[in-house]
Amino acid sequence: MSTKSTILGDRAIVIGGSIAGLLTAKILTNYFERVTIIERDRFPSQPEPRKGISQCTQLHILLARGRQIMEELFPGIYDELIAQGAATVDMVGDVKWFNPFGWSNRFPSGFMALSFSRYILDWLIYQRLIAIDGINFQEQAYATELVPSQNNRGVSGVKFKQRDGTGKKIEQTLAADFVVDASGYSSNAPQWLKMLGYDAPEETRITTGMGYASRLYEIPDDFQEDWKGAYIQAAPPQRTAMGVLYPIENNRWIVGICDTTPKRPSKDENAFMSALEQLPSPIIYNAVKQAEPATPIDIYHPPGNRLRHYEQLTRQPERFVVLGDAVCSFTPIYGQGMTVAALGAMTLGECLAEISQQRSSNLSGLAKTFQTRLAKINADPWIAATSQDAKYPTVKGIRCSLQNIRWSTWR
Ligand SMILES: Cc1cc2nc3c(=O)[nH]c(=O)nc-3n(C[C@H](O)[C@H](O)[C@H](O)COP(=O)(O)OP(=O)(O)OC[C@H]3O[C@@H](n4cnc5c(N)ncnc54)[C@H](O)[C@@H]3O)c2cc1C
Repeated sequence: MSTKSTILGDRAIVIGGSIAGLLTAKILTNYFERVTIIERDRFPSQPEPRKGISQCTQLHILLARGRQIMEELFPGIYDELIAQGAATVDMVGDVKWFNPFGWSNRFPSGFMALSFSRYILDWLIYQRLIAIDGINFQEQAYATELVPSQNNRGVSGVKFKQRDGTGKKIEQTLAADFVVDASGYSSNAPQWLKMLGYDAPEETRITTGMGYASRLYEIPDDFQEDWKGAYIQAAPPQRTAMGVLYPIENNRWIVGICDTTPKRPSKDENAFMSALEQLPSPIIYNAVKQAEPATPIDIYHPPGNRLRHYEQLTRQPERFVVLGDAVCSFTPIYGQGMTVAALGAMTLGECLAEISQQRSSNLSGLAKTFQTRLAKINADPWIAATSQDAKYPTVKGIRCSLQNIRWSTWR
């Protein structure tokens, strides 16, 4: 017998077990008897990187709103992150910030961010979820298509491929009352929609070709500055490189350099140090030149901003929604992705709560309502990221974006 008062269905499936999928799964437990997460990776048994979140070794800052949402969903997670060594950083008081006009003023602002290796957060949330009755994981399972409902108006499950004990890939089908695609930038939802006879959403891409290089360093025992982090902001179009240094767990710094200049940044030791030295202030270079590197230099070339306009579809299947990076992904330097994913999950929760408050389990119209609201949530961070990116000489795609944004959010 269910202890939940507002059940909307028996099973919900979430495709993708990264930040958007994990947060969404937690919210869905309020409305569905069972929630199954289909994830192509195996979840690690301790905090460590995994292939499906290849960006997780790069610097991740969790903005205040994202942190609030995670604390709301998983009370105590903030303390657990700190117990795992996450550094608390007053983004104004603790960070030496060189903006395009000079040094920013520093004062205690109370605007605290947490700085840590990204995979620690995913691992802590995963630990919370495996303790919840009704949540289960299909690991090393790759979702391949959606199953149409009998009346062809919606989705009634997911097909996925999973290896059996002998390593052979077996195709399986799991029925569900509701399916969420949170499979990130590589989401195949547009193709899945086409396979069911729907249009794929239009998409807007704005790219600058920005590349990332990062490396961990042991913080020297004698480091005695009055700041914890440093941010040398780019000033495009003239200056396209930026540098960051933030403390993370295990008394280490994560040091990164980003640039849109072709072939930069580089994995080469000398080129990395020289790029740090050439920033308009050498404070990061000076801090790390005596520090012991803890890892090799890691390079990452994210694809850039991409917005898929699910809200503009004139026909879309019922009982299927898309969120997180699968809908909207950003140039990472603005640190918005996890927080926007969390806002999307909360918005889905609000839509489901409205239905359950009507003592109904009718999910008709939910997909349209949700994708429309999500587009509005995504609009501000999208404009924040792309209006900055528009200043880079290498930017591509900006005109098309402004038209689409106006159409989707302000009409
Ligand atoms: C270099 C870099 C730095 C960043 N820094 C920050 C930062 O400082 N702050 C911040 O908030 N954000 C940052 N981000 C953005 C952040 O990483 C993403 O926004 C966030 O991880 C999005 O989460 P997601 O769950 O939507 O997708 P993802 O994290 O991409 O996860 C998708 C998941 O789906 C799984 N999957 C994919 N396809 C399938 C399938 N067919 N079947 C089953 N499973 C599947 C994958 O294995 C993965 O687990 C950064 C990103 C990059 C690239």
